[in-house]
Amino acid sequence: MPELPEVETIARGLAQNLTGDVIESVWLGNQPEPLKSPPREMVNALEQACIAGVRRVGKHIVVDLNREGRVAAHGKKQIPRFARNHQDVAQWIVHLGMTGRLLIAKPDVAVPKHTHAILRLRSGRELRFVDPRRFGRLAVVRHGFEAPGAEPLDVGFESFAGLFRKRQTPIKSALLNQSLLSGIGNIYADESLFRAGVRPRRRAASLTRAELQRLYEAVQEVLKEAIAAGGSSVSDYVDANGDAGFFQFQHRVYGRAGEPCLVCRTPVKRIVIAGRSAHYCPKCQK
Ligand SMILES: [Zn+2]
Repeated sequence: MPELPEVETIARGLAQNLTGDVIESVWLGNQPEPLKSPPREMVNALEQACIAGVRRVGKHIVVDLNREGRVAAHGKKQIPRFARNHQDVAQWIVHLGMTGRLLIAKPDVAVPKHTHAILRLRSGRELRFVDPRRFGRLAVVRHGFEAPGAEPLDVGFESFAGLFRKRQTPIKSALLNQSLLSGIGNIYADESLFRAGVRPRRRAASLTRAELQRLYEAVQEVLKEAIAAGGSSVSDYVDANGDAGFFQFQHRVYGRAGEPCLVCRTPVKRIVIAGRSAHYCPKCQK
């Protein structure tokens, strides 16, 4: 499942490739699950809209759509006056779920199985949403999209610490709680806790200020490193093959159960907390 760094990498790649292009027409598949907005509403929002930008919010990809740009750039069709206000600006929200991908392809490249949406672009390319397991979601919104939790790369230390105060759940579960922090998944929660020297099962409220400070810094560090690792191969991701493995980010504990800790050689432990696996070093983490 794509986590925050992957989504950030994908959003940056899409922004580089798509900003300024115009969606000429839209095809949507018959599967109902991927569509969170009515198909007609989605088509209306997308068709003839200019892609003003692409960014990440939490684990969502937000495609900013703008109609003014089209008029200014091309001036072909007059947009009815009533459409000038809220209709002019919209966002296409893409959540990749488990297996969702956004591919930029030439129209002559065969459309993969499990394609649920195709946006035909003025540049002659297509933006395709492909998702075999159909946990991904597409929606349009008109009034600005916000993720439920705080943005881990923007949140200040005091707000971050405040999220965990009085919380009796394990710190690992609190890090995964999307209504507290938006976009931290299993891998980066484990890696952050390792770097902070905090065991995943510790009650969130039991962390000292110094531990919270270390955790805060670790979360930022881990996410930024992972984004930097992914950033080098953005162009690979956003081509027709799309599944190029772009993660050179090295896991220190995640997925390394039984292997020696990279710091102290103690075997990494794997436990299960609230149904999710957690990996930690019993010596380095307290
Ligand atoms: Zn260790």
